[in-house]
Amino acid sequence: MLGFNVIFGDWRMTSTQMAQGVSTGDLITSVDELRTILPSITDQQADEMNRVARRYNFRVPRFYVQNVLRDDPADPLWELALPGLAELHDSGDERWDAFQLADRAVDHPRWIQKYRYEALLRVTDFCSGLCRYCYLKNREVTPGCISHREIDAIFDQAEKSTRRHELRELIFSGGEPLAVPAAMIDHLSDRLARLNRTVARRITVCIHTREPIWYPQRILESRSLQEALRRLQPSSYILHVVHPREVTAQLRAALLVLTELAAVRRPLMLTQHPLFQGINANARVITDMYDRLDNGDVIVKPYYLIHPFPDGTLPRHRLTLRESQKILRDLASAPGTRVPLLTVPTPMGKCVIGPYEELLDRGGYYLLHTKDGVPVQYATGAVYNPLELRSNIPVMPTIRAGSQDLR
Ligand code: SF4
Repeated sequence: MLGFNVIFGDWRMTSTQMAQGVSTGDLITSVDELRTILPSITDQQADEMNRVARRYNFRVPRFYVQNVLRDDPADPLWELALPGLAELHDSGDERWDAFQLADRAVDHPRWIQKYRYEALLRVTDFCSGLCRYCYLKNREVTPGCISHREIDAIFDQAEKSTRRHELRELIFSGGEPLAVPAAMIDHLSDRLARLNRTVARRITVCIHTREPIWYPQRILESRSLQEALRRLQPSSYILHVVHPREVTAQLRAALLVLTELAAVRRPLMLTQHPLFQGINANARVITDMYDRLDNGDVIVKPYYLIHPFPDGTLPRHRLTLRESQKILRDLASAPGTRVPLLTVPTPMGKCVIGPYEELLDRGGYYLLHTKDGVPVQYATGAVYNPLELRSNIPVMPTIRAGSQDLR
């Protein structure tokens, strides 16, 4: 299909991405190969997977298939990691990154800034495994890995912007930031250090990653990546773990490596995850996941419990906002260090909901507020509707994409 590689180009592998601690045999990219490890995939399922994979690429690390998935078609994690027909319902017309501050510090397609104090850098669109629910999978994200030229262009602008003094955190996201070549992380470190010399308050780095879950070998075995992260000194990592079975011994080992790279000022480890009906939309499952993370040598704080993204989330995994709030309520009677925040992602920014906050139906929508106080009309019918259009999903109709000031 013409345009497929433009929009979905990011879901391909580049030789550079493969080179950093990955061999081609570590990633499974064909259904036939998958069936050698999961022989219970039927011919009909294989046909369906191939049909979906022709539209949305398929890639899953061998480690994940062998250590997390079960050879059982009833394993709910298949729906998150392996192609399925339900994906074809996703209309793919969302423009999540389009809603940003009008006066952001940097104007660049990889620089996403919804808050004056925080920006997100899409350093790559590559991930070792492709989550089937990923809200970016068929969106207009910048393809490929960030280049040296792009890093300089971004930081040259940041150094000249008066807005840089408001920035407090730079999030490295993607795709998978731990999959970019070490040389890029080194260059980002250098430019961030230079930027920090021009501001009174240090701008810290937070890394959003699923690599320790998908493919922990990259962290455990790539010395160049480890050295680059040692130089970068991120202040925090936010892990994307969605199910207790994803907490493997190798994941815990990778967390220890990431933590011990720093002699002092060791990074904060946090975990966040979307809720999926039938998979983890249950306080017992989530508590089990938190407990398994807590059994390792690194302390991992539950951070965000994410109400399903309206885009990407497969139809049968949707929850209503009240259902998500009920799960939070079931988790809330615990020490504060073990309780996550329930956040509702909207294009306008995150809205945080309390366990006992009253959700009033104001005529088809709840009135939520982002953490900066921006009002958002959030549709009450958040469960999948086959006729659903983007206009039904929580966007303030009076605000035009890319032009509003969200403060
Ligand atoms: S790890 Fe994140 S960016 Fe990568 S496919 Fe999964 S949800 Fe998307």
